[in-house]
Amino acid sequence: MSANRPPDPSSEVSILHTRLKEAEAALQAKRVDCVDALAVSDDDGEKVCALRDAEQTYRRMVEGVSEGLITLTRDGIILYCNRGFAAMLKVPVEQIVGRLLQTFVAPSYFATVDKLLQQGGKSKVEIWLRDANDGLMPIFLSANLFPIKDEPSLIYMVATDLAFFEADVEHCSNRTQYEARLEYQANYDALTGLENRGRLHDRLQQLIVTADHHQHQVAVAFIGLDQFKFINDSMGHHSGDHLLQTVAERLRSCLRKGDMMARNGGDEFIVVLNHSDEALISLLMPKLLASIAEPSVVNGRELLITGSIGVSLYPIDGADASTLLKNAGIAMSRAKEQGRNNIQFYTVELNQKISKRLALESMLRRALERGEFFLLYQPQVSMQTGCIVGVEALIRWTHQTAGVISPVDFIPLAEELGLIVPIGEWVLRTACAQNKAWQDADLPKIMMSVNLSGLQFKQKNLVNVVAQVLMETGLDAKYLDLELTESTVMDSVELTVTTLRKLKSMGLKLSIDDFGTGYSSLSYLKRFPIDVLKIDQSFVRDITTDPDDAAIAVAIISLAHSLKLKVIAEGVESAAQLSYLRRHQCDGMQGYFFSRPVPADALIELLRQGKQLPQPDSAGLPQKSLLIIDDDPIVVDLLAGLLRKDGYRILTALTSTDGFELLALHQVQVIICDQRMPVMSGIEFLSRVKDLYPDTIRIVLSGDTDLPSMIEAVNGGVISRFFTKPWTGDVLRKRIGEAFHQHWLTHGSIVSRQVDAE
Ligand code: C2E
Ligand code: MG
Ligand code: MG
Repeated sequence: MSANRPPDPSSEVSILHTRLKEAEAALQAKRVDCVDALAVSDDDGEKVCALRDAEQTYRRMVEGVSEGLITLTRDGIILYCNRGFAAMLKVPVEQIVGRLLQTFVAPSYFATVDKLLQQGGKSKVEIWLRDANDGLMPIFLSANLFPIKDEPSLIYMVATDLAFFEADVEHCSNRTQYEARLEYQANYDALTGLENRGRLHDRLQQLIVTADHHQHQVAVAFIGLDQFKFINDSMGHHSGDHLLQTVAERLRSCLRKGDMMARNGGDEFIVVLNHSDEALISLLMPKLLASIAEPSVVNGRELLITGSIGVSLYPIDGADASTLLKNAGIAMSRAKEQGRNNIQFYTVELNQKISKRLALESMLRRALERGEFFLLYQPQVSMQTGCIVGVEALIRWTHQTAGVISPVDFIPLAEELGLIVPIGEWVLRTACAQNKAWQDADLPKIMMSVNLSGLQFKQKNLVNVVAQVLMETGLDAKYLDLELTESTVMDSVELTVTTLRKLKSMGLKLSIDDFGTGYSSLSYLKRFPIDVLKIDQSFVRDITTDPDDAAIAVAIISLAHSLKLKVIAEGVESAAQLSYLRRHQCDGMQGYFFSRPVPADALIELLRQGKQLPQPDSAGLPQKSLLIIDDDPIVVDLLAGLLRKDGYRILTALTSTDGFELLALHQVQVIICDQRMPVMSGIEFLSRVKDLYPDTIRIVLSGDTDLPSMIEAVNGGVISRFFTKPWTGDVLRKRIGEAFHQHWLTHGSIVSRQVDAE
């Protein structure tokens, strides 16, 4: 064929026919990409009719296939669609042409479609179409540029129904991917990408098993949007869907790792909080509510919507997933009845509790600006001199209606809300200014202890804030002591060391508060530049009766001293506790026994009066002290009368409680105790005494029938001897004399020991 000869149109047409046949075969084989075989462009006269033929054939062909074929502009306006596409959407062709493709796409796929339109050529994605009945249908959408002259930017798309594709799954090259996709469709919500209710139910059930094992609570929140139908009806499904997606995203962003969230269908969501407690619930639920209420912009319009939340708790509100979901739903309906935009709990008591907490929260947020806080000051006293050496500033909150609220009730909440930072700074400033004012009024110079919360301690500007406050108030740093809890300092050790060193270098003192209640690493403790350990009051409370508490308190004192730290005992309420602590070389005390926390004025009085701790009991100091305990007063009198003849100081008690108190208050060498006593037997009492006061000689008065337990007690070292009734006066006097002698042999001089100790 010569190069100059015009092309033979018939051969062109036959080529076109061949290509059409190929295309047809390709379409039948569902290799839909091959339709670009139709992409022809030539307006050469003779070819036109061939092209028209071709076009008609093509049109017949495309109308006959089950795939959806669409031609659109790059803006997404549909110029043409076949019946296949209309059938997928259950919408007549006329109502599709001229509209945006996005109108028929589930909103979560808008971005995918946009990208496809921009890219134009040779891409294939999976998206979900939305039909006229709001049903969702997964499809493959493949796009190709359709390069017709003068319309270079048309795009040709083929939509393949996945159900259709399913029939052909055997031929699918990537079956695993396909199965994964099917599984996804069974478990997830197409609109929001959240799990669906079925999957959530199963996962909640699993969570319950773990929660049961670890004994923690799980909260199920049922969230319904308020009057969503109104938005859907007035602005169209499209906007409604968009709003649902926005809300879903916002709710999800409030959750922690490990929490779950699902779409229950329609305008309902479910949130499951693993390992939740009241504090977390009352913090998170309002957050969820607030996130819904934030304005959303949909199709250029600002929409406002609220939500109603119902909460059920595992285990109290149901033992399985179905019950919990059902009860959360009931609570949600109650929230709607209560006027919407609120939270209701399935259990009424919890409802009251949480509402109280939420009310407290909103009051607390305003307390600082309203000037509702004030400080009380509790003296810290030296055991050696008996004088006030410092005070601890303790915050109080007076609310207009609720009255004075204890820090125990609001400090944890203030910490959770972050309000402790400004509140703590107010405490620091007020306390330092107060101490300076006392000094300026020529009162004895004392330390001011201020509690620092963990959150405050973590603030980057803490050191600057402290320096600033000291500068503003003019208080010398050496009169300021900061109290930190064990958990605060052990939280992030390296940071702690750095911060503590900086604070210390300013010249102030540092104490560890509530010592013994947390987990301290002794090696770290050694690295911290601290001055004082404060024994937590929980160990002091029963220090004279509970050998375990006593052992802990004594161990803390000895640990502190070996680290060259001072020890202050908190919560000292009685002379007996004081005496016990004193006997074990505790350095200082704080507690109701000396003074409750008092207002600044009352503290001035205490300082002016020079109030002191009572001096230790050294009255008479002789002597050999004997404690007699029997619930029968006649026996006590009889014994006391008999043994007084031998010159002992006799202490008597009718109960074990009084016995413990006397032992704490006085140095006693020998104890005689009746075995048959109410509350606790003589042996039980003496076995505690053995741990609390191991140096004592312990004797039981018993009946014959008690013999086996007496022997066991002697063998176990609880008692050194026992006297069975009836006993004669002379024998008893002799035996008690021997007991004091034994004590002297083992522990040396009574008098010198007492002087040493006291
Ligand atoms: P804390 O620092 O261990 O303070 C000692 C608590 O024991 C105070 O309770 C005090 O009133 C109480 N107390 C003192 N002596 C006795 C006693 O003999 N018997 C008994 N049963 N209790 C006694 P309060 O004032 O209710 O404070 C409780 C806790 O609240 C404080 O424990 C501290 O952890 C915290 N707190 C108080 N004020 C502040 C503050 O300004 N900032 C921070 N972060 N926490 C504070
Ligand atoms: Mg404290
Ligand atoms: Mg404390």
